[in-house]
Amino acid sequence: MSRILVVEDESHLAEGLRFNLEQEGHSVQVNATGEEALKRLMGNKEEFDAVVLDVMLPGQDGFAVARALRAAKNYVPVLMLTARSRPEDVLEGFAAGADDYLAKPFNLAILIARVQSLLRRKIWQHGADQPQAKPAPRSADTPEAFHFAGKIVDFENLRLHVGKQTLQLTLMESELLRYLIQNVGHPVSRKAILENVWGLHEDTDTRAIDNFIVRLRRYIEEEPAKPRHLVTVRGLGYEFIPFPDKKK
Ligand code: CA
Repeated sequence: MSRILVVEDESHLAEGLRFNLEQEGHSVQVNATGEEALKRLMGNKEEFDAVVLDVMLPGQDGFAVARALRAAKNYVPVLMLTARSRPEDVLEGFAAGADDYLAKPFNLAILIARVQSLLRRKIWQHGADQPQAKPAPRSADTPEAFHFAGKIVDFENLRLHVGKQTLQLTLMESELLRYLIQNVGHPVSRKAILENVWGLHEDTDTRAIDNFIVRLRRYIEEEPAKPRHLVTVRGLGYEFIPFPDKKK
């Protein structure tokens, strides 16, 4: 049984979500404001396996709640409910640290499937925390891991190992890195990133991508202001260079 927190002020919707998630065998708590939800998530008394977080809340909105959680290094999987399917909202949600989103009005079966997929990730992460379940260090690259210049991206557990440090990635950070790595040797455009990583085909402000690149640079670059792995290719987009010293 997983514990899920639903953060939604429209009570009929919150209760509908509670009912349906409970039918799936989960334990569900509901909070109507961002402040209450944060208090609950930051407290040590209860642990949640996933959060369904509405953007439109009285007081602190869903974006602020997600940002506060991630700033406090709380990486509980977050499915964000956006009121409109405006691409800017979706991107802001991901930038705030959401792992997935669904635009309202949503199909209930899809919402449940999305929650289940977030829960699966959480279970994998727990598995990786058990010493006996820790996979042997991989020397070769696999679909689950990519090694470059003393760093390892562990796509399965959403972790980035940089020397002795381990950073927790959000799902979207990991997917963006995966896409850049799949395209080693080719610059990728912001539009291609939006389409292939975020699944957005609308014309939107592609500069929102840049915030993600800034974050990834902070993780993987020695000098984020002078990137060597994640370089800007003027007029084209970005290119990932795993071994900058070996280039040319
Ligand atoms: Ca709402």
